[in-house]
Amino acid sequence: MSLIECPDCKKQVSDQAPACPHCGRPIAQAKAAPQNIRVKKSGGEFCKALQLIGAIMLCYGVVSCVYNSFDYPREFSLTPTIMMLGGFFVFVIGRFFE
Ligand SMILES: [Zn+2]
Repeated sequence: MSLIECPDCKKQVSDQAPACPHCGRPIAQAKAAPQNIRVKKSGGEFCKALQLIGAIMLCYGVVSCVYNSFDYPREFSLTPTIMMLGGFFVFVIGRFFE
């Protein structure tokens, strides 16, 4: 948080203030808003794809696990476990970098 000079009335204004308290000129909104939108949009599509892939892998792993335990109780398959863990991992990465 720092003080900046209002472009209109040249008085000291907080850069966190939405508008100049002296003349009412908008300050923080004009500067911060466009940047925030860009940062969010840059990795959005990729992260959404990661989350989708992770969710599908996770669902597949869970369904396979349940299916296997009903049909072949004595047969242990590693694939559903790997799918579950891998899907969860990919999903978390997608969430984290969003
Ligand atoms: Zn001002």
